[in-house]
Amino acid sequence: MNAFHKLGLEDHLVQAVTDLGFETPSEVQEKTIPLLLEEDIDLVALAQTGTGKTAAFGFPMLQKIDINSRTTQGLILSPTRELCLQITNEMKLYGKHCKGLNVTAIYGGASITDQAKQVKRGAQIIVATPGRMKDMISRRLVDISKIEYAVLDEADEMLNMGFFEDITEILSHTPDDKSTWLFSATMPKEVSLIAKKFMDNPTEVTVGHKNMGSKNVSHEYFLVGARDRYQALKRLADANPEIFSVIFCRTKRDTQKVAEQLIEDGYNAGALHGDLSQNQRDVVMKSFRAKQIQMLVATDVAARGIDVDDITHVINYQLPDEIEIYTHRSGRTGRAGKTGISMVIVSKSEVRKIKSIERIIQKEFIKKEVPSGMEICEVQLKALASKIHDTEINHEIDPYLNDINSLFEDVSKDELIKKFFSVEFTRFFNYYKKTKDLNSPSEGSRSDDYAQDDNSARFFINIGSKDGYDWMKLKDFLRDTLQLNQDDVYKVDVKDSFAFFNTDNAHKAKVLEFFTDFKQDGRFINVEITEKKSRDRNRGGGGGRRSGGGGYGGGRGRSDRSKGSSGFRSEGKGRRSDSESSSRSPRRSSDFKPKGGDFSRPRKSRR
Ligand code: ADP
Ligand code: MG
Repeated sequence: MNAFHKLGLEDHLVQAVTDLGFETPSEVQEKTIPLLLEEDIDLVALAQTGTGKTAAFGFPMLQKIDINSRTTQGLILSPTRELCLQITNEMKLYGKHCKGLNVTAIYGGASITDQAKQVKRGAQIIVATPGRMKDMISRRLVDISKIEYAVLDEADEMLNMGFFEDITEILSHTPDDKSTWLFSATMPKEVSLIAKKFMDNPTEVTVGHKNMGSKNVSHEYFLVGARDRYQALKRLADANPEIFSVIFCRTKRDTQKVAEQLIEDGYNAGALHGDLSQNQRDVVMKSFRAKQIQMLVATDVAARGIDVDDITHVINYQLPDEIEIYTHRSGRTGRAGKTGISMVIVSKSEVRKIKSIERIIQKEFIKKEVPSGMEICEVQLKALASKIHDTEINHEIDPYLNDINSLFEDVSKDELIKKFFSVEFTRFFNYYKKTKDLNSPSEGSRSDDYAQDDNSARFFINIGSKDGYDWMKLKDFLRDTLQLNQDDVYKVDVKDSFAFFNTDNAHKAKVLEFFTDFKQDGRFINVEITEKKSRDRNRGGGGGRRSGGGGYGGGRGRSDRSKGSSGFRSEGKGRRSDSESSSRSPRRSSDFKPKGGDFSRPRKSRR
């Protein structure tokens, strides 16, 4: 008996399998096909790309639907037009011995009337992209009120692409008692949310080893104050002159800003994210492969396709929302037999996430100190020494050597070396000599330092975890609505129905003003200053409730702040006299200027 027979497939389907040349079922097929055939259940299946998921849901669906009926009984949602067509094609092949089967593809960029006609002929199965499907529903060109099986294929990708609302809308037109089968390569929070929202006690199937990181990657973390993130990043780069790295940020905006700032500070950096045109992304990737870009700042989605072998460091500028994504990130290094380092810059509130990651990757992180200014000077000096040692002499300088030699006639070799290296060393030395220690005092010391900081204001806000916020989401929300910078909002502490956060005093008026009469989804969102927790420090100012409100306006409708790259430059302003954020970076010398020009501008560049 054929192995596919054993899974419970009927003869004509097994015949199609044989025609296709499949000999044995893949793991995901072996696990899901019997389950789905046996009962009408909801299912969540996690399996990597290329594991045969289409057949895993396709065969059971074909076996279970009624071919003699013309009613639409199966709906398969997939993220892209290409996948939609691919699945349609596969389904037709799987069902080639099903007489009367009609599988219709619905996707954007093609005639909607033609697609409507095909549906009308009686499509038992529709394979669709969410956008066009929603469109067809609203125009009443499809009827999915009687479907029995709904498949969400590549669910993580669909959610990445922002289809959550469309999917919700589409599924609201389907019967409650249908079975929903969700297939995904990863299980980020949004996917579990979908599973919770639309599925009834789903059976879970996981295929393959989940998230076992590469043996060749070591994991390090650096504990810094939330506001020192960028400075820490620069030091990590300065301490590794030969770095060839991908730096991950959580949002497109941060990605763009960090890249711009690095370029401004003289690093060979570039940005890779979804707001860049395909052409711009190609240019960045080409420069990265050619190593003209040493630091590629990227979002997780944009970095999906990156396949470059020699990456020395992966730097998690911010930790991902989902721990599993960390594995994808760190897997960018340590390839092809080489070793790699995955570094994480964390603030105190994120340290517990490190523990969760350790559990998943089953490897321990090494807690490292952000290198001090002097350590960096030493590294840079040694790197320069070995670079000079290995430099081939360019004989074009011969004609000028006489003059140079006479200038140095009275200088000994020893002295000459000292002078020569001082040129470089002094640059880094002057930059770093006044800088502070970036390492955050570790756990155990008071964690309320923000509340004690006179320069900082603590706020209460009347939304919390029951409104769907965790600290990262709340931080993003505040940053975006208030148009603040990364790390301007910190110390976010989300409780059940309310939360706290801090900003610098400089933003206090703006925050309060913005949330005067601020409504979201018909509900007032209230923000107030809270008492500072510090001992004996309740002198006026911050305490108590504010009286009245200053009316509307404030932060909204301000000019486009993504223009230029002033984002990070304002960092540190009005705070301690921190020369590291105000003075020019030591990288700003001709040696370190980006070779490939400016790669990071989105769409319309300055030129
Ligand atoms: P996924 O959706 O998991 O990325 P696909 O369903 O697209 O994977 O399948 C990947 C490829 O493997 C397809 O070309 C498919 O025809 C083939 N395939 C699927 N199942 C089998 C099998 N049991 N034996 C051999 N090839 C298979
Ligand atoms: Mg697939």
